[in-house]
Amino acid sequence: MERQATAVQTALRDLPSVDRLLRAPGGDELVAGFGRGLATEALRAALDGARAALRDGGLDEAPSDTDLVAIGREWVEELLAPTLRPVINATGIIVHTNLGRAPLSEAALAAVAAVSSGYSTLEYDADEGRRGSRAVHVERLLTRLTGAEAALVVNNNAAAVLLMLSALCRDAEVIISRGQLVEIGGGFRIPDVLAQSGARLVEVGTTNRTHLRDYAAAISERTAAILVVHTSNYRIVGFTAQPEMAELAALARERGLRLLFDQGSGALLDVSAHGLAPEPTVGDGLRAGADVVAFSGDKLLGGPQAGILVGRAEAIALLARHPLARAVRADKMALAALTATLGHYLAGQPERVPVWRMIARPLDEIAAEAEAWAARLGGASGRRSWPGSRASAAAACPARRCRRDW
Ligand SMILES: *Cc1c(COP(=O)(O)O)cnc(C)c1O
Repeated sequence: MERQATAVQTALRDLPSVDRLLRAPGGDELVAGFGRGLATEALRAALDGARAALRDGGLDEAPSDTDLVAIGREWVEELLAPTLRPVINATGIIVHTNLGRAPLSEAALAAVAAVSSGYSTLEYDADEGRRGSRAVHVERLLTRLTGAEAALVVNNNAAAVLLMLSALCRDAEVIISRGQLVEIGGGFRIPDVLAQSGARLVEVGTTNRTHLRDYAAAISERTAAILVVHTSNYRIVGFTAQPEMAELAALARERGLRLLFDQGSGALLDVSAHGLAPEPTVGDGLRAGADVVAFSGDKLLGGPQAGILVGRAEAIALLARHPLARAVRADKMALAALTATLGHYLAGQPERVPVWRMIARPLDEIAAEAEAWAARLGGASGRRSWPGSRASAAAACPARRCRRDW
């Protein structure tokens, strides 16, 4: 007992000082690579670890200086290793919020690098030689693609909805169906956003059925708008009813209200052509008569994180002038990536957008690749290969591809 305690004391005394480690081979490299402050902290952490291990019996003798420096280097490398890093998405969910949603096209990535590695015309009109607006870069593409009169891009769709309601419905009532009071994920709830905007929520109908007459009966002199929220992340099936967008547009017009549409997914093309559950497109909403349509840039649009607002010029101008617009504006990298992504649609090449390439991929091709990976991984890890493989893998795919996690 006595002798053991003495051995520990000796080992502890044998540990070098931080200064000695800083000058030891490898220690000087730590200083050169990461700075004296971080190198000192790392070596101190290595020494603390060694001290604790000697005391609790994990170590019998003091480690060499070389080992201590190596432990210090690991400590720094772990500290600086990015926790935001690439992964392979094998969930079967193409647009997965937890995994970063839409991968960008090559052209979008190149556009990001081009405008962010140097200066850019973000708010400069090169033709006129004077200050310009960051809004112009994507507006002409968005209006051409959707048929809207005007467009505005902000940081994400939650911000787009907040801005839309703040600018158009503050201190007024907004009518929404009880079947559309959705939580989108990450705790984002439509009723909470409405409250933040200063608009008052008037809920109508029931969870499964809301009729045109429910909307009509709720209209008062305090009503500013009818809000339609596309519930893309769940479905109410069975005994259901919801008026058509065109019917709501007619009602809104007749009563001098705005019809606002949170379309969410940003589908510009018909997904049902690829075997997915039908999804109203942005254009559908506008053609049916919505005054403003809000949607994400990084869901089915397949671009960068962004919130996109399209609609009547008069309404979009009110949004653009609102103080919140400045607080939630899009950055140059998002605008560059969005411009490139929209260009793929305009050029009739949606397959250049990775999300669409994946959506359009034939099921047998997906099944074959899954099989190949299952075989390789199964062999390498000694684990069972994909259960119910071969034909059933293809059969399982359509359902999995319809799942949405936003
Ligand atoms: C995803 C979604 C949002 C939120 O959009 P973000 O871009 O994630 O901020 C809002 N409304 C609907 C209907 C959505 O689907």
